[in-house]
Amino acid sequence: MSETKEFKAESKRLLELMINSIYTHKEIFLRELISNASDAMDKLYFKTLSGEGEAVSRSDMRVKIEADKGDRRLVISDNGIGMTKEELENNLGTIAQSGSFAFKNENEKSEDVDIIGQFGVGFYSAFMVAKKVTVISRAYGSEDAFIWTSSGADGYTIAEADKDTFGTTITLEIKDNTDDENYDEYLTPYRIRELVKKYSDYIRYPIIMDVEHEKLREGTGVDGVEPEYDKEIVTETLNSQIPIWKKSKSELKDEDYNEFYKDKFHDYSDPLLHIHSKTEGTATYSALLYIPEKAPFDYYSKNYEKGLQLYSSGVMIMEKCADLLPDYFSFVKGLVDSEDLSLNISREMLQHDRQLKIIAKAIEKSIKNELKKLQKNDREKYEKFFETFGTQIKYGIYESYGMNKAELQDLLMFKSSNGGSTTLEEYVSRMKEEQKYIYFASGSSVSRIESLPQTDMVREKGYEILYLTDHVDEFCLQMMHDYDGKEYKSVSADDLDLGTEEEKEEIKKEEEDNKPLFDYLTESLGGKVKSVKLSQRLKTHPVCITSEGMLSVEMEKVLSAMPDGQGAKAEKVLEINPNHAIFGKLKSLYETDKDKAGEYAELLYNQALLIEGMAIENPVDFANKLCEIMSQ
Ligand code: ADP
Repeated sequence: MSETKEFKAESKRLLELMINSIYTHKEIFLRELISNASDAMDKLYFKTLSGEGEAVSRSDMRVKIEADKGDRRLVISDNGIGMTKEELENNLGTIAQSGSFAFKNENEKSEDVDIIGQFGVGFYSAFMVAKKVTVISRAYGSEDAFIWTSSGADGYTIAEADKDTFGTTITLEIKDNTDDENYDEYLTPYRIRELVKKYSDYIRYPIIMDVEHEKLREGTGVDGVEPEYDKEIVTETLNSQIPIWKKSKSELKDEDYNEFYKDKFHDYSDPLLHIHSKTEGTATYSALLYIPEKAPFDYYSKNYEKGLQLYSSGVMIMEKCADLLPDYFSFVKGLVDSEDLSLNISREMLQHDRQLKIIAKAIEKSIKNELKKLQKNDREKYEKFFETFGTQIKYGIYESYGMNKAELQDLLMFKSSNGGSTTLEEYVSRMKEEQKYIYFASGSSVSRIESLPQTDMVREKGYEILYLTDHVDEFCLQMMHDYDGKEYKSVSADDLDLGTEEEKEEIKKEEEDNKPLFDYLTESLGGKVKSVKLSQRLKTHPVCITSEGMLSVEMEKVLSAMPDGQGAKAEKVLEINPNHAIFGKLKSLYETDKDKAGEYAELLYNQALLIEGMAIENPVDFANKLCEIMSQ
């Protein structure tokens, strides 16, 4: 006798959603059913552990998959704890109060569909691919079996059935192909194997399937005899059962880690570094993380998505969990497996999950520690890493307005006048006793920076200079403000303040004596510079450009190269070397030929821009004027 019953209202709604799902990841239904089977076997195992009923051996437990293309049936059976009639009714007639049903926006279909696809809602996901689902189950310790059948939202029936052994057999009658959807794939052994590998590889029980092979008949295919084949059925285990991250480190070689990485994360080269950790305490989890050797081709583009794979007790619940990685470590690949997370948890809930937050913090810390270790123990490798991903870390500091400074500043590396690369800690350890600042100079390359006139004075003092060649460098330093109380100072800053009192006095006097000349030169440059003054930092070069205020000339260059950065201008100062012949020339021209003095100022200004690597406003005019002078 069987009677048709209606689903509870909520379940019915969800079911309708499943049936009409346009979600592209329908394939997750298999993961859901296998996980349920695995849970049922876990439950049985624990029940018998406590001495109730006849003992069962864990080694006999398995999930079996059978696919029959002819009658479009996919069967998933387990020898787990099974369900009584009441349990069938309660468990499959009502939707479990799992996180995935925390639908807020029922009316927005697209959002709902996304939630289904990302996390599934267990058993019901079967209706995404099946037009009819049959569950035959016999509870452990019971003689009776029952059959639960449903063709969708209309309801389900439960009736008595025959089943020799305890456990559950679920039969899906797979939907017919449509124009947009090829359901046949769920009946194809090759595809089933692929799905098991992808989502359920580390389920601790074997997932088996009978696979047909063709075997060469003996005596054929040799000596000119046409090859003939016999069909042979082989029972294969589709999953590898023990995840590499659950194995102990001593069992694993670098090679194992590298192979797993290349296979799982589709990279051709070995990773630069792997981090394998198991943690117990406030959060229990294993993590296997990798730092790639090269940046993925789309790394610095908008398309790149950061994230780690997330597993709950060996079952993958999310391909890319972005919340596990801060942006500045977005290059890290890998996975996290935790018992503390439930399988059916929605993206929304995950974001607020306390466990996940704890895990993310711990992971961030371990990445940082491993990088510090690498920096100390294998400098060459670290420098390679920093060359590839350092910019990302600097952006991390810049974008957080320096909030991550304490975490990240010791990971930074800069080229320096010391030759080679240095960390900030190393720089500070080499600072001279009277040296107040950490000096830096910016430019597009080391050789360019080395020839900057502004570095003359600092160099003469014997102070080391950090060479900033990356666009973000100066912005990053500005956000950090200081290292260990030592402020950063640009060699082009207006208050470099390195001369002796005597020198300063001398220059001040000279400036006062020639005030009308400087005012005139400033004026004739027509607002391009804030002022023209005598330089305390130039030794041999005639002129240079420096800046006042927060925005340096180098920063102006970077900003004006950005689409929305137009208009950001540094407050430029044209500095003239008081000891250079050109200063004397300007002085005398001011007396005899003011116009010419003005023209010279323009030429000198343009020269200084060129040395800085900046574009000049009117190159043709500049070239013509230069030629004119050469022909005089
Ligand atoms: P969830 O797994 O999140 O609880 P499901 O809808 O997948 O939600 O399953 C509902 C319930 O049905 C499960 O909690 C379990 O008690 C029962 N169940 C599902 N599949 C099986 C199975 N193969 N064997 C025994 N019980 C099962």
